[in-house]
Amino acid sequence: MSRIVYVNGQFLPRAHASVSIEDRGYQFSDGVYEVCLFLNGKPLDFHLHMDRLDRSLAALSINPPMGRGAFKVVMDQMMRRNRLRDATIYLQITRGVTRRDHAFPAFPPAPAIVMAAQRFNVAALREKQKTGVAVISTPDLRWKRCDIKTVSLLGNVLAKQAAREAGALEGWMVDAQGFVTEGSSSTAWIVDQQGRLRTRRLAKDILPGITRHVMGDIAANAQIAPVEEPFTIAEAQSAKEAFIASTTSSVTPVTQIDGVPVGDGTPGPVTRDLIDRHWRHVLRETGYRL
Ligand code: PLP
Repeated sequence: MSRIVYVNGQFLPRAHASVSIEDRGYQFSDGVYEVCLFLNGKPLDFHLHMDRLDRSLAALSINPPMGRGAFKVVMDQMMRRNRLRDATIYLQITRGVTRRDHAFPAFPPAPAIVMAAQRFNVAALREKQKTGVAVISTPDLRWKRCDIKTVSLLGNVLAKQAAREAGALEGWMVDAQGFVTEGSSSTAWIVDQQGRLRTRRLAKDILPGITRHVMGDIAANAQIAPVEEPFTIAEAQSAKEAFIASTTSSVTPVTQIDGVPVGDGTPGPVTRDLIDRHWRHVLRETGYRL
């Protein structure tokens, strides 16, 4: 965790930072967040994250507390003040502090904004990319607006905890029809029996992942344009390859689903190629070289 955090316009030592118990984020999870990855001191896909933040805020009718340029200045300051080169910055904006009442306050308070940074371990990610990870299936218990990146994450928390208890890295959430929606903090992909790269279409039941978006372009350039078609756990278990994608896991191979090996149980060629291509994207964006 970073030494210095940002809270409502101030950079403070973490031990001295606090938020009100009447913050609507705390009481109603009435707020949104983003996680941006900085490598080599530069943000990855910054504008895509800011576009999604704008959409999340608009969906909840929360006014952006500052412009994009100001967000970037504060984030750069967070990196500098914490002496970080490779880090994630967590950014949270809530509706603010008011007397407790479910409805939006008639006179909107100033949105509350918090940022915290965390050192990012590239070596640990590389290790997972080489060995692959296990996932388990778990029911999707979430609400009907998973496209908004809100701090309301209890369904995701329970899915991740189920994975942790099963010795897996990620929980793939399954909808009432038996199709995988996404991971608790990543999107879910397979290379199916026909060699098609498949992931679920964007709708209100999944988060529009930034890495999903970038991977779509990268894969299309590599002549393996993704097909937006949902898949079941059984299809994923019998797929040639599977992987997860997110800001912090980049593209990470899935080599086991509910204890069943995917393919020969090692990262497959399509996934390995996409990992290389994604690192080239990282190099172009941030100058970070493996
Ligand atoms: N889906 C969920 C539910 C997530 O929480 C995340 C990231 O935290 C993702 C997908 C991946 O999104 P991104 O690529 O923007 O990190």
